[in-house]
Amino acid sequence: MSELPQVLIDRFQRRVDYVRLSVTDRCDFRCVYCMAEDMTFTPKRQVLTLEEIQEIARAFVELGVHKIRLTGGEPLIRNNILALIEPLGQLPGLDQLAITTNGSRLHRMAAELHQSGVNRINISLDSLQPGRFRQLTRHGDLKQVIAGIDAAIDAGFEQIRINAVILKGRNEDEVLDLVNFACQRKIDIAFIEEMPLGLIDDHDRALSFCSSEALRDIISTQHTLEPLGDPKDADGPARYFRILGGPTRIGFISPHSHNFCHLCNRVRVTAEGQLLLCLGNEHSVDLRRVIRARDYKLDMLKRTIIEAMSIKPESHHFDLDETPDIVRFMNTTGG
Ligand code: SAM
Ligand code: SF4
Repeated sequence: MSELPQVLIDRFQRRVDYVRLSVTDRCDFRCVYCMAEDMTFTPKRQVLTLEEIQEIARAFVELGVHKIRLTGGEPLIRNNILALIEPLGQLPGLDQLAITTNGSRLHRMAAELHQSGVNRINISLDSLQPGRFRQLTRHGDLKQVIAGIDAAIDAGFEQIRINAVILKGRNEDEVLDLVNFACQRKIDIAFIEEMPLGLIDDHDRALSFCSSEALRDIISTQHTLEPLGDPKDADGPARYFRILGGPTRIGFISPHSHNFCHLCNRVRVTAEGQLLLCLGNEHSVDLRRVIRARDYKLDMLKRTIIEAMSIKPESHHFDLDETPDIVRFMNTTGG
């Protein structure tokens, strides 16, 4: 078994060196574009244990992955999450340990996360108006999230980015306020086009869609944006611009208007241990079955991951006017 390759390459010659691990599908918010109000979550026994997640991370890092992002659901509500983060922070070969959070617990956890080895953090923030923030998240407390962002700044992470999803008629009038909020705090901001993952009865994605181009036009009324080159050199699928006169970068993640599949370097693992080869397709492999087998060995897991590269699709196709092909919600996919 010693002849296993040490890098992951799919059949389109894309190198996979980035994994997003969902540590739970549960969340303390119910953002209108992500979840329905009433959700059924995965029973706990079907969710990977922290030790199993750690083992999967180890397999990927031994296969040349050097960036891991923990996500969910809300990763910081997983019980004892630091018991996973601390060993991950010490994995040799892992350069970047990142987390995406809604920020609700960050005011208490930012310093510990940083000390445990998390170097990058994305915090979701779609509105700066408390009432509207509550409506969009159905449960969120804006004050707490802003305290979390400020605690992250104090903790000294290498990179902090706000993630915002803009919906027509709900928060598109806050684009400039959100940009100015990021500029004042000298942190980055990315605008993500809404993706049709999961069907949500009281939310029509086709009506609420705002393209990255429209957002750029709004921002350009007040700021000069300098393009920052090829996304390959930046950070995944985001196209980045710098705001003239300051350190803030603005990213646009545009799965509809700008197809970035040819640059795709990532895969995802759900909280149940399904390895998802593409955000916009159902191709997946069950890693939990492998890791819970009686004769389990790390090489079996590595071999399964290597073989899975042969089914990574070439590209995604999203259409907001069609019933989504992808029935899983974003909280299952792991953002
Ligand atoms: N709970 C954490 C959070 O909100 O940051 C992490 C998980 S969340 C699924 C990750 C990111 O996905 C968030 O920035 C959220 O705004 C985004 N997101 C959720 N549903 C989406 C959708 N349908 N389209 C585009 N982005 C979405
Ligand atoms: Fe929870 Fe994040 Fe989904 Fe909002 S976007 S419901 S915070 S998982």
